[in-house]
Amino acid sequence: AKDAGGGVYAAYHPNMHDALMQRLSLADDLRLALERDELVLHYQPTVDLSDNTIVGFEALVRWNHPTRGLVPPLEFIGVAESTGLIVPLGRWVLAEACHQAVAWGRPLKMAVNVSVRQFEAGDLAATVAEVLTETGMPADQLCLEMTESVLLTDTDENLARIVSLKALGVMLAMDDFGTGYSSLAYLRRFPMDVLKIDRSFVDRLGSGDAEDETLVHTIVRLGQRFGMRTVAEGIENASQVAILREMSCDHGQGYFLSRPVPAAEAGRLLETGLPT
Ligand code: C2E
Ligand code: CA
Ligand code: CA
Ligand code: CA
Repeated sequence: AKDAGGGVYAAYHPNMHDALMQRLSLADDLRLALERDELVLHYQPTVDLSDNTIVGFEALVRWNHPTRGLVPPLEFIGVAESTGLIVPLGRWVLAEACHQAVAWGRPLKMAVNVSVRQFEAGDLAATVAEVLTETGMPADQLCLEMTESVLLTDTDENLARIVSLKALGVMLAMDDFGTGYSSLAYLRRFPMDVLKIDRSFVDRLGSGDAEDETLVHTIVRLGQRFGMRTVAEGIENASQVAILREMSCDHGQGYFLSRPVPAAEAGRLLETGLPT
């Protein structure tokens, strides 16, 4: 049997019923959370590695749960996907992130994560168009991040969806690059603007292993050759910054540069710049 939320169990287990009930109640809670405005976005700066300036943010959703506190996305995005709630949730995230970007009143790139379900259910391009109009967000300042799983079902239909998103003038990023099965083929097939190098590769930089460095360097070159902006995620120390800068990787994100922070703090970082 397969659990639609992504977890897989092989056989019946006495706890299966409990687990199912938990998922159902989580789904109910999440539905209410959307109505009650309990979701919040945190913003992680994207930094130009050549001069350490903030060029934009990635919006990351959290659930400000009345009793459990701030719940991370990995604990509820799966349920949102399997119940279809990801569609209204995703729309809320898009609108909130664009609204915030416009409120900051300066040009910056706002990156928003889009999940497969959101991409395949309904008309994402129409939703994005609506949100751009509603918020006054310039299309070229919005970047939609998709993992390979979005592109995995390599159908003409999905290509058409990508093309209609591109036609709006928004940017598209391939998230977690290198972790999937056939990333290379997708580079040719889909007109993506940004390549985000997965944290698992960046993690290994700075350990002195030449092969790890070669791997990241090759990914950066690959992105460049395809005319894509390269962004390294999960930068946790200064030596990784130095190595990536040396490789001419364009942008970086990671705890070393800044953790994801609430909107007010992100606004302050925009004013002051990152501490050096
Ligand atoms: P992601 O898109 O790969 O986002 C990056 C994740 O890595 C974030 O976790 C971020 O806080 C974390 N991170 C950033 N820098 C570092 C670092 O230096 N070290 C380490 N260890 N981690 C770092 P977060 O916020 O918990 O989000 C996890 C995942 O949840 C995201 O992975 C994304 O797939 C999903 N997600 C978050 N917000 C949304 C959303 O609004 N919609 C959808 N569909 N998915 C979302
Ligand atoms: Ca992302
Ligand atoms: Ca990522
Ligand atoms: Ca990830």
